[in-house]
Amino acid sequence: MWFNRFVGRWFVEWAENGKRIRMLRSRWIWEQEHGPIPEEYDVHHKDVNKENDGLDNLELILSEDHDNLHSFLKFSKMVDTEIEWFRKDGESESQTSSSKY
Ligand SMILES: [Zn+2]
Repeated sequence: MWFNRFVGRWFVEWAENGKRIRMLRSRWIWEQEHGPIPEEYDVHHKDVNKENDGLDNLELILSEDHDNLHSFLKFSKMVDTEIEWFRKDGESESQTSSSKY
């Protein structure tokens, strides 16, 4: 088992019939509990922390839905950052305007 810093995920690796098999630890953990994952499914991290591979945090989801979910999460994150920016702007503006008076 090792951690790939580049993708920020844990992997497991083992040998089967002389073949090396590599798998995302999240998928592996899910499979230990529930059996093989159908090809069209992904394992999603409920708290969106890809390092948290606890069984409670894993959820099986259709790959298509998974992609949609993540683009949505990305989008809502972007909106949050924009709101933060907006707030900061508003603060500095009220500070400058109050110093005027
Ligand atoms: Zn996910």
